[in-house]
Amino acid sequence: CGIFAYLNYLTPKSRHEVLDLLLNGLRRLEYRGYDSTGVAIDSPQANDIVMVKRCGKVKVLEDAITEHFSGKEYDEPVMTHVGIAHTRWATHGVPCETNSHPQRSDDENSFVVVHNGIVTNYKDVKTFLEKRGYIFESDTDTEVIAKLVHHLWKKHPGYSFRELVEQVIQQLEGAFAIAIKSKHFPGECVASRRGSPLLVGIKTKTRLSTDHIPILYGKDEKSPQTCEKDTEAPKTKEHRPHGQTRELAVLPRTESTSE
Ligand code: GLU
Repeated sequence: CGIFAYLNYLTPKSRHEVLDLLLNGLRRLEYRGYDSTGVAIDSPQANDIVMVKRCGKVKVLEDAITEHFSGKEYDEPVMTHVGIAHTRWATHGVPCETNSHPQRSDDENSFVVVHNGIVTNYKDVKTFLEKRGYIFESDTDTEVIAKLVHHLWKKHPGYSFRELVEQVIQQLEGAFAIAIKSKHFPGECVASRRGSPLLVGIKTKTRLSTDHIPILYGKDEKSPQTCEKDTEAPKTKEHRPHGQTRELAVLPRTESTSE
């Protein structure tokens, strides 16, 4: 499948522009999977996430988006906005709207995730979460990722988004590239990979400090392919215990919410 995430940072863009960028990203990735598609963006209603998912090709999603996102609030520019998108090639669960990505943590869309790959231990994680009251709505392996982030967020309210995702990926077996957004961490997108490819592109007029975009990668992986313009993406190496590797990119939040 193909995952695509977009974050505009301090450059005003309307939701329609963000949606166009997401659709363009999906068109480029459609050769990687085309049984279903979906997007999640910030809702014009404060602190909410809106998702549209469809069975079928990107064109079907495009029509659904045109129908769904009408109204002038979608033309208003926003400074920082996170959108994630997916075009699926099903491995677990038939192609249908419920099994399409983004997959969500709960019916409030607290955490939503797009995923390429297979979580091979998803049954164990699912059993763990079901015992703690989580009710699964899809047949995908992916849904465990969103729900596990939610579980850890409730357990560790002080954790940053990145810390939560770091904890989650340590529990996952298999191959993945993921991008996650959350209404509890507005303006942030966390992406990570193990085994699957992930490209991070950064365009900025000013140099970003290393605090803004740490890209961490494991000792056995090649460095992430980073497409840079006008600036260098700061990179730090991190070695994982027990030899597993992963890469994790945390894109920035707005200045007003920065730590
Ligand atoms: N395993 C996930 C699913 O079946 C992702 C498949 C993909 O890479 O498209 O939903």
